[in-house]
Amino acid sequence: MDRRPQFKDPALAKALLTKIGMLAKDLPEVRIMEVCGTHTMEIGRLGLRQRLPDNIRLLSGPGCPVCVTPGEVIDSAVSYAQMPNHVLATFGDMIRVPGSGQSLEQVKANGAAIAIVASPLQLIKMAEERPETTIVFAAVGFETTIPAVARTIEIAAEKKLPNLKMLVAHRLLPPALSALCGDADTHISGFLLPGHVSAIIGEEVYRTIDELNVPGAITGFEALDILGGILSVLEMLINQTALIINMYPRVVRPEGNPHARALIHKFFTPIDAAWRGIGIIPQSGLALRDEFKAFDAPVLTQGSSTLPKGCSCGKVLKGLITPSGCSLFGSACTPQTPIGPCMVSSEGSCAAYYRYERINR
Ligand code: SF4
Repeated sequence: MDRRPQFKDPALAKALLTKIGMLAKDLPEVRIMEVCGTHTMEIGRLGLRQRLPDNIRLLSGPGCPVCVTPGEVIDSAVSYAQMPNHVLATFGDMIRVPGSGQSLEQVKANGAAIAIVASPLQLIKMAEERPETTIVFAAVGFETTIPAVARTIEIAAEKKLPNLKMLVAHRLLPPALSALCGDADTHISGFLLPGHVSAIIGEEVYRTIDELNVPGAITGFEALDILGGILSVLEMLINQTALIINMYPRVVRPEGNPHARALIHKFFTPIDAAWRGIGIIPQSGLALRDEFKAFDAPVLTQGSSTLPKGCSCGKVLKGLITPSGCSLFGSACTPQTPIGPCMVSSEGSCAAYYRYERINR
C-alpha cells in the first residue's frame, strides 16, 4: 500500500506542478518563504519541496510563536510556576522550550504548579475556582491567538477576577515581514503569507508595508492552496509585479476580522519587542494598556534572550539556512533531545525537517 500522503485532487495538483515547472524554466533561483509554521509542517508532510523544480526553494520563516519567544519570557514563566500560591498556565507547546535554565517541563517534574490549557478562556474557570491562587498565563502567539486572550481579559475584568494575570509575549507578523525584507542577507523572492493570521489582519495591511516589495500570496493550508500560492508568486515574478494576492478568499476577507482587531486594540498597545534569535523588531510586540495593567504579570528577568550554545535557530527563522545546515541537527539536537526552540515546537522548522524532510529526501 502506498502510504505517501494523497492529494485531494491529484489531477489538479499535477496540473499545478506542471505549470510551476514550466514557469520555473524562465526563472533563476527563486526563494519563497512560507512564513507560517503550519505551512512548514504541511509542506513537509506532503513532500512538496521534493516535487518542485530544483530552482524553486521554499524557506521556513519566523511564524512559529514558541520559537521566537525570548528566553527571558520562558525563565519568567518558570519563576512564576515556582512561586507559592501561583499556577502557571500555558499552551502545551511551551512546556519543553529551553530558557536559560530549566524548562517548564523540568520544574513541573519537581513539583512546580503548571497547567496546560487548550484555550485561554479556560483560565476564567480556573481563576474563579481558586480565588486564593494567582493564575499566570504565558500569553504567547500571533494575531490568531491574541483575540482570545483579549476576550479572556475582558471577561476577567467584567467578573472582577484579580487573581488572573497575563505574561504577555505576543508578537505581530507585519513588522516581522518588514524586518525580513529590510535585511540585506535574506534574499527573499516572494512570500506565502499565513492564512490564519490574515483572517484576522486582512489583505490591506500587507500593502501598507513599504519594505514588502516582493510578491506575496495569502495561502491556505491544503496542498492545492500551497501549490496555487507558489504558482501565483512565480507568475508575479515573471510579470515583474509585486502584488499581494489573496489565494484564500474562502477564509480571508479583504478587511480581515475588524471585531477581533478592535478587541486586540482595546486591551493592547504595540511596543518594540525581541524575537528570539532575531533581535528587536520595532512595534512587533504588545503590552497591556495602562487601564488593564492589573492583569499584567511582568517579565521578571532581562537579558536571557540568547539561544542555547551552538543553536542556529535565528538563521533558520530568517531563512538563511535550512535546519540541516545546523551542525547539531539530527545528531545532538533531535525531538527527543531538543536543544533549540525550533526543534521543540510542533510548528518549528527543525521539528518539521526532522519529521518529514529527512525521509522525503
Ligand atoms: S537543529 Fe536544534 S540546535 Fe540546530 S537550529 Fe534547530 S533547534 Fe537549534
